[in-house]
Amino acid sequence: METISDLLRRSIRDVPDFPKKGIIFKDITPILGHAPTYKRVIDELVSRWGPRKIDQVVGIESRGFIFAAPLAYAIGAGLSIVRKPGKLPWETIRETYQLEYGEDGLELHIDAVGPGERVLVVDDLLATGGTAEAVGKLVARQGAELAGYAFVVELAFLEGKRRLGAGQVDSLVTF
Ligand code: AMP
Repeated sequence: METISDLLRRSIRDVPDFPKKGIIFKDITPILGHAPTYKRVIDELVSRWGPRKIDQVVGIESRGFIFAAPLAYAIGAGLSIVRKPGKLPWETIRETYQLEYGEDGLELHIDAVGPGERVLVVDDLLATGGTAEAVGKLVARQGAELAGYAFVVELAFLEGKRRLGAGQVDSLVTF
């Protein structure tokens, strides 16, 4: 059988200069639109993280949700969502992080995760790691245990993994 890495290499579409000049956007929509590929990706995440006793899966807006939700369902974990500021209706905590120009923020409901829970943070892609690092801080601030980070794609040359520290960081394909 084809490896997950090879399957993803030929499924992900590179879109040059999106959303701005100089960025090569990794478009994951061909994975989603092809039923056997989407299933294989979710099954792979389930086999890697299912045995690790995860209580809550935290998905990052918005492409993280696409992988976090079926993973949480399949491994019997809860699903929590991290969103851009102002989107979550109830009380939240917020982390801000630096972008190339300016800063951005992410929020989590205060009761989404808590002490005694093992949490897995999920996003579609790891680039510089700024986004995932901010989410890790949100989880830690709530007293939950950060079990790891799961990504479909990792852009290794941006060294995001280093930023996420010594914990478990796993991706299905690395460029
Ligand atoms: P970063 O905080 O730099 O690790 O960026 C990760 C976030 O930005 C993820 O939510 C990705 O979906 C998105 N992202 C960053 N770079 C790319 C890229 N080249 N292609 C697709 N998505 C990207």
